[in-house]
Amino acid sequence: MDSTIEFSSCPSCGHTPPVALAPDGERIDTTLDLVSDHELIGDSGPIDFEALRDTDFVICPNCALIFLTRRSSPAAAREYYGRLFHRIEVPLPFDGLPIPERFVRRNAALARDLVRTLAANGLLEGVRSALYVRCNAGEGPRLLREEYGVGEVYALELLPSCSRHAKEVNGSERVERMHVPSIENPFSRRRFDLIICDEAFGHALDPAGVARDLKALLRVGGAVVVFNEKDHSQILKSSKLFRNGMNFFHKQLYTRRSLQAFLELQGFEITELPHPVVGKPGSLKNTKILFVLRPGEAATALLPNDEVAQMTALFHRWRSAHKWRKRSQRLLSLFRVREIDPEAGGLARRARSRRPRAPSTQ
Ligand SMILES: [Zn+2]
Repeated sequence: MDSTIEFSSCPSCGHTPPVALAPDGERIDTTLDLVSDHELIGDSGPIDFEALRDTDFVICPNCALIFLTRRSSPAAAREYYGRLFHRIEVPLPFDGLPIPERFVRRNAALARDLVRTLAANGLLEGVRSALYVRCNAGEGPRLLREEYGVGEVYALELLPSCSRHAKEVNGSERVERMHVPSIENPFSRRRFDLIICDEAFGHALDPAGVARDLKALLRVGGAVVVFNEKDHSQILKSSKLFRNGMNFFHKQLYTRRSLQAFLELQGFEITELPHPVVGKPGSLKNTKILFVLRPGEAATALLPNDEVAQMTALFHRWRSAHKWRKRSQRLLSLFRVREIDPEAGGLARRARSRRPRAPSTQ
C-alpha cells in the first residue's frame, strides 16, 4: 500500500500549480517533529511517518490556502481516520475513563455556550434531527436533547474515552467513533435539520469531499454549523506556534477569507454568527470562526488576491521567527540546564519541577 500521496493541486479550489513557501530542500518543522521515534515506530501502522515528516507547505496562488503537499494516502487514512478526519492514533494522556474533570468541564462549557448561541440566533427552531460531529464527550448532544427538545441527536466522537463518556455519563445512545466507521456508516441514510461540525476542513484529507458529504446529509432547509475553525492569519501571528512548530494536524491552513472562498466554491451560502451571544466570556475563546452554511449556488471564480501576498508574508515572518526562537533556545539551554552544584561537587542538571515557594512570613 502506498502510505503517502502528494497533493500537486489545491485541495480547496483545485488550482494548479501551488507555489513553494520554503527554498528547495528546506523542511518546515511541524508538531510531528515533537513525537519521538519510539512513538512513531510503536504505533505507526500503515502510515510512513518519515515520509510525512519530509513534507512541505505550499500556497495556492488562486485562493491563498497554505497546505501540506504530502499526506497519508486515502487507503492509509481510512484505516485510521475514516473519511472525515485525519489524526494520529497515538495514546493520548486523557484518553481513558474517567476523563479528567478539567477536560469535561472545558468541553461542557464550550458545548453550552455554542448551543445557547445557536438557540439565540434561532437556529434550533424546528430542529427535529441533529448530527453533532465531534460532540464534546456528549455534552452538546445532551443539551440539545434535554434543554432544547431535539428528538433525534446523533453524534460522532474522536476518542474512545469521549465516546464512552458520551454514552455512559451523558446518556447519548446514538454516538459512534469518528474514524471507523466513518460518517457514512451508520448515519449516512439519515438526513438532518442541523449538523454541528467542529474543525472539519483544516484537518480533512479531502476538504471538498467533506463539504459534499455534509451537504448530502442535510434535509431540505437544513444548515451546517461550522465552528472552531482556526483563522490562520491570526495563528501565524501568535507566539503559541513558536513552541510547537506548525501544527501537523492541520493539512490546510485556512483563514477566514480563504475558508469562506472554499465554502462558496462548494455551493454554500454563509452567515457568520457573532459569538458568544450568551455564556461565560472566554469559554468560546478558541472559536475563531462560527459559520452557518446553507446549500446555495456554487461560486465560480474567487480571487482574494491581496490575501495571497499577505499569507505568504505572514508565513515567512512566522518561519524566520520560529527558526530564530529554536536557535536561541538551543543556545540558552547550554547555559541554563547545567549549573555547578557545590554539594555534588560538579555539574548537575537543574530540576525541572518548580520549587515550593517559601512562606511569606520568613
Ligand atoms: Zn486554491
